[in-house]
Amino acid sequence: MASTAKPTVPSPRAITALPTHVVNRIAAGEIIQRPANALKELIENALDAGATTIRVTVKDGGTKLLQIQDNGSGIRKADLPILCERFTTSKIKAFEDLSTLSSYGFRGEALASISHVAHLTVTTKTRDEACAWKAAYADGVMVPIKAGAEAQPVPCAGNDGTLLVVEDLFFNTPTRLKSLRSSSEEYSKIVAVILQYSIHNAGVSMVCKKSSSSSADVSTSIGASVLDNIGVHYGENVKKELIAVEVGDTNLGVKAKGWFSNANYGGKKGTFLFFINHRLVDCTPLRRAFEAFYGTLLAKGAHPFVYLALEIVPSKVDVNVHPTKREVGFEDEDEIVEAICKALGRKLEKSSGSRSFTVQTLLPGAQPIAESVTRRTASSSTSVNEAHNNNSTKSTRKVAPNKLVRTDQHAQTLDAMLHSIGPSSTSGAGDDLRRSKRRKSDHDPAFASRLAAAEASKGVRTRIPQSDCMLKSVRELRKEVVSRCHTQLETIVRNHIFVGVADLSGSLSMLQHETKLYIVNHASISEELFYQLGLRQFGRFMRIRLEPAAPLQDLIHLAVDSLPGHETLAVPIDQIVQKIYNRLMESRSMLDEYFSFLINDEGELESIPLLLPGYNPSLNKLPLFLVRLGVQVDWESEKSCFETFLRELAFFYAPKPITIADDVKEATENRQLQHAVFPATRHYLLPTEKMLKRDFIQVTSLENLYRVFERC
Ligand code: ADP
Ligand code: MG
Repeated sequence: MASTAKPTVPSPRAITALPTHVVNRIAAGEIIQRPANALKELIENALDAGATTIRVTVKDGGTKLLQIQDNGSGIRKADLPILCERFTTSKIKAFEDLSTLSSYGFRGEALASISHVAHLTVTTKTRDEACAWKAAYADGVMVPIKAGAEAQPVPCAGNDGTLLVVEDLFFNTPTRLKSLRSSSEEYSKIVAVILQYSIHNAGVSMVCKKSSSSSADVSTSIGASVLDNIGVHYGENVKKELIAVEVGDTNLGVKAKGWFSNANYGGKKGTFLFFINHRLVDCTPLRRAFEAFYGTLLAKGAHPFVYLALEIVPSKVDVNVHPTKREVGFEDEDEIVEAICKALGRKLEKSSGSRSFTVQTLLPGAQPIAESVTRRTASSSTSVNEAHNNNSTKSTRKVAPNKLVRTDQHAQTLDAMLHSIGPSSTSGAGDDLRRSKRRKSDHDPAFASRLAAAEASKGVRTRIPQSDCMLKSVRELRKEVVSRCHTQLETIVRNHIFVGVADLSGSLSMLQHETKLYIVNHASISEELFYQLGLRQFGRFMRIRLEPAAPLQDLIHLAVDSLPGHETLAVPIDQIVQKIYNRLMESRSMLDEYFSFLINDEGELESIPLLLPGYNPSLNKLPLFLVRLGVQVDWESEKSCFETFLRELAFFYAPKPITIADDVKEATENRQLQHAVFPATRHYLLPTEKMLKRDFIQVTSLENLYRVFERC
């Protein structure tokens, strides 16, 4: 057996009580961790004292000098001797007061703490006093202003209010001093505190400058509004995207007020300003809740601006989560947050017609924006503002639509592929959650077709939300659509009554508006409609799933084979097919992300975007669509790529003239036009001037008809 050496036990160390001044210093260091913490306390005191102007001067990031001058009530001379004793405060008289107190600090620790770790002098004058009084403090007690003199306030000249001078912060706690960052970083933390308080206390003028500089780094004016100050500090582009929300709930004992960014805004970092009972606080649960709320609203990587001021019954607030009282918790967090988010959701919805803002439920693992589709909540009348419009029907489309497609026997069978449509039920949004993209098992073809039929017969009840897209290109395209809208024609489109399909072979339908009857080219109108619906849902399409998935190469081959004049092509067909195929394969992740156009690893097409619930494009045209994607889409520039892709998609979707009699086809087409296409034009189409000239013909008016009948 190995011998074990006896371990040497250290002899016990004597326990000695730390000297009180060391204990106090340590405690003070916990409360005042950096210059910005000290300043926050001083600003709160000034605001509690009713100041309307606060001027801060800083040297060396606050370590050499932190000076704050206010025009508040001032401190009575009689209170000066005990000003910096711990737990002296004018704000709390009895223990019960603690639960009703709503002023900033209430523990009477700030000035005491500062006096333990810095040289502190106070010059103060109340309105009643003839002159100001100056006093100095060290380690919690008043000390002589000059060595050798008595420890008492000395009279001096001064303004109404209080001037607090904190010098040599942490001079006696070198480790704390060393832990600070550079002067400029500490200074920017100070500035941040002032910015935030100036927003919450808009109307109070706050100025902050370095002692070495004559110009101020922060300067807000008396009487400025919250929004003014947000604009000053965070910029106009933040300010213009903000929405005010106010909620009061007596049951929860809370009042909430704030400004929140809308879906147009997306900061690189989130900005969260939380005030609880007028104290600037960190509140992780609040932050998380808003991050989650906006996560479903903003594109990935975009973050909100939130300024929220909560007034909560003080007994519900726990400020002792952290020694600096910075991180706080409060009761009924979830309910309070929910109430605020609901109100915010309603406001966002109102403020921005066609956007969808209802809080969404995400599928586990779903991507906030690309994978979820929101419920459309806006009213249809406002929705058109952001719908899109057409311009040039592209020059690439010279051939009459009916000549483009040669119906091929092989292609014929493609209709059989349409086994299930994406989540497109009449009940709307939640359904898109079924759009879980790579799950094949949950498709029930019979159910899907029943669903499609039910939809078609009920018409388009599903609201189609406009996706919140951050891409500049898409926003521009959307704007172009809006700018091309012909307002007079829009009135007709918005209020028309569908009379009936007049002629499927000529793509003609009849519409009535007021006393006038129009004959319209539904193929051409719906092509524009589909383009606009494509832009509208960019990045958030529901899917039409192809089952089984369709092999791209075969489809492309089919289409190229049937192109007129393909025999005379200089390049071998296989090469063309390969080229187109490669094009699509190269872009497939983009196509899936933005257009729900999913090509799997085997080069098979699994899904195409669903533009309009209740409307199924004819899959006969799918091969040609693929070829055109390869050939007509500008794959080089982003904006043009999206535009050309969506134009091709619209062309593929648009109903084509039915030239060969086919009862089933005709019935389907009639139904789709009546219940899906025309209702959607009423809601979403922004008609163009071109349409007025080309696609709308006024046949007659009631007045004319009367005239005719009168003659009889
Ligand atoms: P608390 O703010 O928690 O009461 P402080 O240590 O911050 O504790 O301040 C102690 C007291 O000093 C305050 O209660 C207040 O009466 C007085 N005081 C501090 N700063 C000011 C000021 N700028 N103007 C008027 N009174 C002040
Ligand atoms: Mg205080």
